Order: sequence, then structure tokens, then C-alpha cells
Amino acid sequence: MTGTWMRGLMATCVAIGLAGCGTTYELPKVNDEASTMAAAMFTQARATPPGATVTPEAAAARFRRVVARVKPAAVAFCRSEAGDRPAKVCDLPVVIDPSVGEANAYQTRDRQGAPFIGITVPMLLQVGNDDELAFMIAHEFGHHIADHIEKGERQALAGALILGALTATSQAYANQANPGRYTGADQADLQRSIGLGAAVGQRAYSQTYELESDVIAAHIARMSGYDAVNGARFFARPAGARTQAGTLSFWGTHPPNSQRLATVIAATRAADAGQGLNRAE
Ligand SMILES: [Zn+2]
Repeated sequence: MTGTWMRGLMATCVAIGLAGCGTTYELPKVNDEASTMAAAMFTQARATPPGATVTPEAAAARFRRVVARVKPAAVAFCRSEAGDRPAKVCDLPVVIDPSVGEANAYQTRDRQGAPFIGITVPMLLQVGNDDELAFMIAHEFGHHIADHIEKGERQALAGALILGALTATSQAYANQANPGRYTGADQADLQRSIGLGAAVGQRAYSQTYELESDVIAAHIARMSGYDAVNGARFFARPAGARTQAGTLSFWGTHPPNSQRLATVIAATRAADAGQGLNRAE
């Protein structure tokens, strides 16, 4: 069913024009060698069970260590790219979100409209190494640098009718799968679910934006001294696409596939060769 809806949205995307759907940057060309390497890495990552989680203290130390290196590189990159738009906010807070009980990472806005990046505690506990966390944070910066929220809103406005129908349908399915889920007294939990769903939901339908964020992340990770290809393996984990509550998980909004790894490999090779990101516009 999801696939049908995704195809429907893709068709809408084409029907309303490409303004809201196109990428800001060109995606690198993936050659056969990168594809083959990515396929092997993907198979290996899918077959590797998650390692032991780290202690909260170690997770917090990793978070501080990685943010201290990735954020300055990401902010500098954002500023250089936003040279013609001085109003673009580049210095995003990167925070640990203690309010969500599922592994997730996202870029969204607070109530005042200020953008920020949130990583949940279960996600921090599951991350296997610094490269993975660095790539994840850089990927979320990628969504911000490429204006995916703004593009998603334009898309959502144009396709409001279809999106409304999608929401109603997905709620019906959520209720069907979890009778009573929305009748409990934990309103705050529900609000959080809604907020998170709204934050990441629009992105679930754009594999192109995912790949674009991966490309930006490959450059940012490299600039901050991390191995983007090693970090991107995290996305290939054999994890469920939906949470226990029936909402899309991190892997539901970031579908794992070998194309993602191949794109990161190709982007890293291009960066190693001294090539910057090329604008698609
Ligand atoms: Zn993403």
C-alpha cells in the first residue's frame, strides 16, 4: 500500500512541476565499480546484527566529541553555499532529544520557526562508531542546507488534497493495526508523535532528497575528518521501517538500499579528487 501511495505522490510531484521536487545539487554519477562495492557492503551490513549498545555516558561523550568536529564544518559549508542568501540560518543547534523513545534523527524547526537537528537517546545508544554519528548529523545538515523543509512545504501546499487523503488513510491504517492507540490519555505522547511525523513525514516520499543529503553529508563528513562511507553503513542496518506505534521509523524515512551507499562512495571519490558540489540549477 505504501508503495502505491509513494507512486501516487511521485506522480503528483511531476504533475505540479519540478520546482518543489528538484535537487539543488547534482547527484554524482555512480560507475559500475562503485555499484558493485556498494552492493557488497550493503549485503554485509544487512547481515551484521546490531552490536551492543554503549553506555549513556559513552553515548553522551561521543555526541559531544562528534558534534564538536562536524558542526563547525557543516556551518562553514552552509555559509559558503548560502553566500547569496544572507538570511539563511546556518548555525543550527544539534541537540539530544529526550522526548522520543524511538531511535531517530531529524532536522526540523522549533515553535518559533528556528531550525535545529535532534538525535534521540535510543539512536545515540545504537550508533556503532563515530563515523556513523558524524555521517548522520552531516546528513541532517544536508537536509537543511538543501532547503528540503521549504521545498517539502511548497510541494505539500500544491499537493494538499492528495496529502490530506494520504494522512487520513495512514491514520486509518494505524488505527486498524493498533486499535486503541489514539484513545489513550497520554496526549503529550500523541503530540510528540504528530510533531515528529510532521517533521519527517514529508521527506519519506523523496528518495532524491535523501540521496542529495547523503552527497552533502559525504562532503561535510570528509571535511570534518570522518569516513563517510563507513558512516553510511549505519543506514543499511536490518531495522524495521515502522516503530512499535506504527509510525515510520528512522529506517522508514531513510530507506536502506545499496544505491544510497553507492552514491556516498561516488560523492566521496569526487571529493577526494578535489571536486566540489555542482549546483543543479
Ligand atoms: Zn534524511
